[in-house]
Amino acid sequence: MYSDLFIGGKWVPSSTGDRFDVLDPATGTVIASVADGTPSDALAAVTAASDAAAAWASTPPRVRAEHLRRAFDLMTSRASSLAHLISLENGKALADAQGEVAYAAEFFRWYAEEAVRALGSVAVAPSGANRILVVRQPVGVCVLVTPWNFPAAMATRKIAPALAAGCTVILKPASDTPLTALAMAALLADAGIPPGVVNVLPSRSSGQVVDAMLHDPRVRKVSFTGSTEVGRLLLAAAADNVVNTSMELGGNAPFLVFADADLPAAVDGAMIAKMRNGGEACTAANRFYVEAPVAAEFSRLLSDRMRSLAMGPGTDPATQLGPLVNEDAVAKVDTLVRAALAAGAVAVTGGSRPSGPGCYYPPTVLTNVAPDAPILREEIFGPVAPIVTFTAEQEAVLLANDTEYGLVAYVYTRDLSRGLRVSEALEAGMVGLNRGLVSDPAAPFGGVKQSGIGREGGHEGLLDYTESKYIAVSW
Ligand code: NAD
Repeated sequence: MYSDLFIGGKWVPSSTGDRFDVLDPATGTVIASVADGTPSDALAAVTAASDAAAAWASTPPRVRAEHLRRAFDLMTSRASSLAHLISLENGKALADAQGEVAYAAEFFRWYAEEAVRALGSVAVAPSGANRILVVRQPVGVCVLVTPWNFPAAMATRKIAPALAAGCTVILKPASDTPLTALAMAALLADAGIPPGVVNVLPSRSSGQVVDAMLHDPRVRKVSFTGSTEVGRLLLAAAADNVVNTSMELGGNAPFLVFADADLPAAVDGAMIAKMRNGGEACTAANRFYVEAPVAAEFSRLLSDRMRSLAMGPGTDPATQLGPLVNEDAVAKVDTLVRAALAAGAVAVTGGSRPSGPGCYYPPTVLTNVAPDAPILREEIFGPVAPIVTFTAEQEAVLLANDTEYGLVAYVYTRDLSRGLRVSEALEAGMVGLNRGLVSDPAAPFGGVKQSGIGREGGHEGLLDYTESKYIAVSW
């Protein structure tokens, strides 16, 4: 298990020698003690990334692509040990962790393919006086900040396009889950990525460490995935040096079920949209709006499926729902559910935390939820499905859009024109139309409103790590 900082291709302790513990959320026991990066370590990492930048930017795209393809192969061959590590430090069920490794590895494969496609353009100026030549150049040194809920995929979704574009990076993983990020550093070194191109800096002082990097003029981009609250702080800090920003922030996904939907398919989709990662996903369905004639049936079918999930340690192959990541996460879910129940909601299944050790919260379905309940406004980030009934399409769209978030929305209907009409009307960066899962490395992932700025994945994900340079020329 790697537990030091990875700077300039070397494993090093922190400048103070301090370390912090990483806990197993299933038992609360210590898994590892990890070097606690400081602002001075962060600046050393910026130096390493900056020193490596020119050579990496001028490495032929095909060579960069081949490194990324090797990373995909290595990640695939190490899938089971990486999945075990994710499950251990994050708590998610092994099946979810295996799914995450496969998804994370695909970013290396996709951007291996995209690395050779950072195309520019040539045009004749409307006046005919000159040519407009546009080339795509790497942004430069990038700071990447990732959350704990997908410790591998949120890292590869940034590292792969950054490297494909010719950028060098410093990854600051979440302090709950630094071990997967460090394992990724080792994997990328094994794939032949030169020293300094990828640096990984776990730290418990995230604010200070990231702030130090954003105020170093050598840093030209910050790509952040995490809460909207922290995203706002980073946008403000990035303003000082006018650093390029990409923000993948919180969500509050509505899940709309119309009376004409294929109900069993909608329940299958709901189980994925709600329960993938135990509900700890930015894309997790947070609010279910179900048309009145099918609301009781949908609630019954969903409750039956939720009730049957096996809860236990993520690393146990029989487990379908692991513990949440830490005690704070359980306390937050518990508070939201208690408030909903106090305001008249009914727990069809679940609804209270079990006694005993571990950060567990049971699968929960709530009906009779008041439309203004806090559980419909905040990210639950746990295995809780609140259900609200609606009677008209327009009402459903209004309810769905009544949030400052706009990451993803889900719609189930057999009527294609309604499905597309509602998809267009929903204020979200992504819509799952009769699908409970939208994530795909080949598609542009991201949000509108306060869910973010920029897109990851697809071709757009590559362009986010490039600047257009316009050269005016005549010949
Ligand atoms: P978080 O915002 O608390 O932390 C995210 C990262 O930022 C961590 O690495 C953390 O250490 C760091 N951080 C915390 N405070 C900081 C500060 N002041 N300055 C700099 N860095 C700081 O989020 P989290 O709890 O780790 O993750 C859950 C959140 O992430 C949810 O809101 C979820 O919706 C969001 N998320 C979004 C996406 C997306 O693609 N839109 C994907 C996954 C998770």
